[in-house]
Amino acid sequence: MGDNIVNFFAGQPPLNRLSFQRHSSETLNKHRSDPKAQFVLYRDFKPLIKKGEEARLLFLSLEDVRDKLGPEYSTAPEGTTDKLQLKLYESARLPYTSSALVFLGIDDRSDPTTNASSATDHLNPTGIPYFALDAVGSEWDFIIEQRGGEWGDARASATALKAWEAGIYAQGRALVDWNVRNKFCPACGSRTYSLWGGWKRNCTSALEPPKEGKEPCFSTKGLHNFAYPRTDPVIIMGILDSTGEKMLLGRQKSWPKGMYSCLAGFIEPGESFEDAVRREVLEEAGIEVGPVRYSSSQPWPYPANLMVGCFGRARDGQTIRLDLDNELEDAQWFSRKLLASLVSSASGSTYTREDYKKLENQNLSDQQTSAALVPSEKKDGEAVETEGEKGITRVPPETAIAGQLVRLWAKGDIDLVSKL
Ligand SMILES: [Zn+2]
Repeated sequence: MGDNIVNFFAGQPPLNRLSFQRHSSETLNKHRSDPKAQFVLYRDFKPLIKKGEEARLLFLSLEDVRDKLGPEYSTAPEGTTDKLQLKLYESARLPYTSSALVFLGIDDRSDPTTNASSATDHLNPTGIPYFALDAVGSEWDFIIEQRGGEWGDARASATALKAWEAGIYAQGRALVDWNVRNKFCPACGSRTYSLWGGWKRNCTSALEPPKEGKEPCFSTKGLHNFAYPRTDPVIIMGILDSTGEKMLLGRQKSWPKGMYSCLAGFIEPGESFEDAVRREVLEEAGIEVGPVRYSSSQPWPYPANLMVGCFGRARDGQTIRLDLDNELEDAQWFSRKLLASLVSSASGSTYTREDYKKLENQNLSDQQTSAALVPSEKKDGEAVETEGEKGITRVPPETAIAGQLVRLWAKGDIDLVSKL
């Protein structure tokens, strides 16, 4: 079978998430008060990093954060025996106004050079607990200054992180974001509160006694109406021509000069991965796609996407057209030789801070933009821009799944392609 492809942000989270412990306030409070506990902080979804060292998250210790953490995870009022009532308080963060505090898991490795769990007791593994925290308010400023921290940039900082820390960053960011953006019940508009150490939310009206003459909130009528964190899937694809020797890449007008990337788009309700690949390629480039194969995936925490990387093979004898959805400025078939030379050249996937800014200033719901430049190694200085064949001078970096798809094919490292 061979090894799976591990993309940036994925597979690296070395944390044992212990999702089966989330319902236990007692266990989560134990982790929270563990002197070894580490806290990764966010403000406005930006990570706390070491000042002047964009490549490192600054983790705070329990000692640093203890007096600002707020109340412990709640348990049900004494004497509660009703099962549904008990469920309403499982590791709840009350009052609901408390800032988001998410239990990420435990680093249970005994050997930090490997990501493999070394737990012998899988029910109660030991190690370092990690939490993500929304650090709202000026009361945090003093300790952050004292510990030599500053707020990094949500994307550019992530580009520079070590893979291990990037995994924790991505997990924490997605969860803090979800908690912060879902403060109101979609059924009745009341405030929501957090349960399960930040992995579940519920309508606060469920905690109050029923009001006479008022229908209870629809969401409180069944357990199935608790809200859970979202993951929104986006397909991103390396489409090959019928000979398998050319790959279809496109660009948007606003992208940095010379940059082309894989086509991408949201998977819509009622679509499989394969359906979405075929629809998007047809809509964006007018090309019909036959066989499609899954390659690998990448979590993308801006705010909650999962990039689903695929290869596909176009049907014979077609012409590219961009006038169906007019999303791309250009799309072309590029030879394996050209793409191989770009991925192996120094400037072929180098992006400056200015380039990132160009991409970040886009509409963030635009997956074509979002997917095009997933984090890369940050390099100083301007990228060398030389006009290449058909205007392409750059492809996405290795840390982007789009960059992975291009490299896998260009270097001939993939079996899937020959079987398409
Ligand atoms: Zn409600």
